[in-house]
Amino acid sequence: MLVRTVYDEEHEIFRAAIRAFIERECVPHHEQWEQEGIVPREFWRKAGAQGMLCPQVPEEYGGPGGDYRFLPVVVEEMFRVGASGPGFPVHSDIVSGYLLNHGSEAQKQSWLPAMVSGEAIGAIAMTEPNTGSDLQGIRTTACRDGDDYVISGAKTFISNGQNADFVIVAARTDSDAGARGISLIIVETDRPGFRRGRNLDKVGLKAQDTSELFFDDVRVPASNLLGEEGGGFALLMTELPQERLAIAVSAMAASQRAFDLTVEYVKQRKAFGKPLAEFQNTRFKLATIKTDLAAGWSLVDQCIRQHAGGQLSATDAAMAKLWTTEMQCRIVDDCVQMHGGYGYMLEYPIARLYLDTRVQRIHGGTSEIMQEVIARSI
Ligand SMILES: Cc1cc2nc3c(=O)[nH]c(=O)nc-3n(C[C@H](O)[C@H](O)[C@H](O)COP(=O)(O)OP(=O)(O)OC[C@H]3O[C@@H](n4cnc5c(N)ncnc54)[C@H](O)[C@@H]3O)c2cc1C
Repeated sequence: MLVRTVYDEEHEIFRAAIRAFIERECVPHHEQWEQEGIVPREFWRKAGAQGMLCPQVPEEYGGPGGDYRFLPVVVEEMFRVGASGPGFPVHSDIVSGYLLNHGSEAQKQSWLPAMVSGEAIGAIAMTEPNTGSDLQGIRTTACRDGDDYVISGAKTFISNGQNADFVIVAARTDSDAGARGISLIIVETDRPGFRRGRNLDKVGLKAQDTSELFFDDVRVPASNLLGEEGGGFALLMTELPQERLAIAVSAMAASQRAFDLTVEYVKQRKAFGKPLAEFQNTRFKLATIKTDLAAGWSLVDQCIRQHAGGQLSATDAAMAKLWTTEMQCRIVDDCVQMHGGYGYMLEYPIARLYLDTRVQRIHGGTSEIMQEVIARSI
């Protein structure tokens, strides 16, 4: 394997600590969480106490004040063991970023320390039943009424939707202003009129809660507006690269896991009197995957480095997400094939990984939308 140079010693010390924590507190329970369709809040609090949530949040807001690179370390360690349930990437990589970079001082003080400790869980709601890729088509409205906004509409596919204490909601504050009519507003989930719908039954990511959310004239103070009124679409465009990079990191860690599981399997499984690992087809497939992994890690590490230096463009992030998630789907499918029938049995981790993989080309912006973003830069 190529030597990765993106992390420093402090990141590796952090990695070792959270690796032990995940092995001890997450892995033994993950199957039960998959059956229940949700990760208990108690685990969120334990992860907070371990320093695993929002490690980039500065000390003044209750965090350890690490640089950006601590975030991908967490994602790598979770996906290394197939811990796809805890919605930490949405909470730490995405929601806390909106607050840190665009929140008012009061918003930061009220949410960030609680997010770091795991007392408060965050979600972000852009997607609606009638619009996903085309964010300009958002129909949820936020009407100004005195010192409040009154929010009406419905969202769907919202990660952490069942667990969330607050949701950053993309809503239309001006019906005639196109993209400039969209604003981001924080909605606490104990507000009257807020309702959680079903915890959606997904193909994979079984332990992760993904929900419909309903807003029936939910009244929030105008001070819950994030950034400027009408500035929501611009904020989404600013923050989506970090979300896409987190998905690219998870794609690499999951692909690496598929490879490692498969190498172990083909060495012990025999056919025609010899281990599968000795057939030329197996050796060549694994050689190709190993090469893909080296290329993918190089791309992702370069993006992590650039993002840590404030230089990751929307195009760079889209390229990383597109390439790594398409690669993950190919690799995991090949790895299932090398497991034969056992690869289709859910008691084998490669089968679960197969189910968790398919979403990667869809969420955080589909592969086609990534191609659209990249094509615009040409
Ligand atoms: C497990 C999961 C978790 C999610 N979590 C969240 C979340 O926390 N918050 C949130 O807001 N959303 C979330 N989403 C929603 C996700 O971001 C959307 O599903 C995704 O952006 C696609 O939108 P859509 O489902 O409406 O598909 P559509 O936009 O209807 O797209 C359908 C198909 O048409 C293609 N298409 C659309 N427009 C174009 C175009 N211009 N050119 C070419 N092809 C096009 C798409 O690529 C796709 O193949 C989640 C989704 C899933 C599955």
